[in-house]
Amino acid sequence: MNFKYSLDRSSKKFICPKCQKKTFVRYFDNIDQQYMEESLGRCDRESKCRYHNKPNRRGNYVKQTFEYSPPSPSYHNNQEIVKYGRNFRTNNLVQFLKIYFTQTEIQNVILRYLIGTSDHWTGATIFWRVDQFNNVRGGKVMAYNRNTGERVKKPYSKITWIHKINKQSDFVLQQCLFGLHLIKENKSKTVAIVESEKTAIIMCILMPKNIWMATGSKTGLNEKVLQPLKGHKVILFPDKTEYGAWAGKSAMLTAKGFKISCSRLLESYDLEEGADLADLFFKFKGCTNHTNKPLTPKAKNLQTLGEINPVVWRLVEEFGLV
Ligand SMILES: [Zn+2]
Repeated sequence: MNFKYSLDRSSKKFICPKCQKKTFVRYFDNIDQQYMEESLGRCDRESKCRYHNKPNRRGNYVKQTFEYSPPSPSYHNNQEIVKYGRNFRTNNLVQFLKIYFTQTEIQNVILRYLIGTSDHWTGATIFWRVDQFNNVRGGKVMAYNRNTGERVKKPYSKITWIHKINKQSDFVLQQCLFGLHLIKENKSKTVAIVESEKTAIIMCILMPKNIWMATGSKTGLNEKVLQPLKGHKVILFPDKTEYGAWAGKSAMLTAKGFKISCSRLLESYDLEEGADLADLFFKFKGCTNHTNKPLTPKAKNLQTLGEINPVVWRLVEEFGLV
C-alpha cells in the first residue's frame, strides 16, 4: 500500500527546526512527488531532541515554530574527578612538567585544575571542564609525549572525551572554558586566556597571580563561553598567527561591554606558526629542544626564572594594559 505521504526514504537530512542539527528527515508527498511543508518531519536525535511533526490524515498540519534553545548540558558526577585523579607517575604530561618544575609546583597545579589520568591511551591526561557553579561539564582526554610535552598527533590526533570513552551516548557536551571554576576565588584577579590547556597550567605555575584559562581550540573563543567572565578583566593571548582572529573577537566583545583586550606579545617574537606562550618561555630558557636534562632546583625557582627570563617582565607589562 502506498501512503499519500511518508518520511523521506532518501538519506537526505535537513536542519531540524527545534535543535538546529542536520538530523531532520522531512515528510514526502508520494502523490505530488515533492517534500511537504518544511516543518513536517522527524528529528533523528531521538533521545536528545524528539521533534516529530506529522501531517494529519488529510495531509493538513499545524505549523510549529520554535525559539531555538540549546539543550541543557549534561554533567559528570563530581566523584569522577576523584576517580581519575591518580596515577600521575604514568601521566605523560605530568612527567614532562617535572623536567622544568618542582614537585610542589606540579602538585599545586594538579589540584588547582583537577587534572586526571586516563588509561584510554597510555599516560593520557584528562582536563576536566568545570564551570563557575562547580558543574563538571566534560572531561577532555589528550595524549602527550613524555619527553617533549607535545601532543600525540600520529597516526591520528589523540583527543577524546570521557563521556565518549564511557559510551554515554545521551551526554550533551556544552563546553566551558578550562579553568572557569577558578573564577570564584578572587574577583579582582585578571583572567588570562590561552588556547591550550597545557599552556594554561604552565602559565599558572609561572605567573600564579593571574587566573589562567584555556579555550581548548582556536574556535573555542566566543561570547557564550566568555559570558561568565563579563565584569572581570580579561586578557587574551592568542597563539602566534592567530592574533587577527582573536583581536577581532576581542573588539566585538568590548563593544558589548566586556573588559577584554588582546595581547600582541607573541606577534613581536620570531616564533614558529602556532607557537604559544609556553613555547616562548621554553625558548628563552634555552630549552627549545626540550632536552630531558633536569634543571637544578635553583633554576626551577620561580624568582630565578623571572630574573633570567625577560619574557616574564614583558608579560607583566602586558597585564598592565588591561
Ligand atoms: Zn532535532
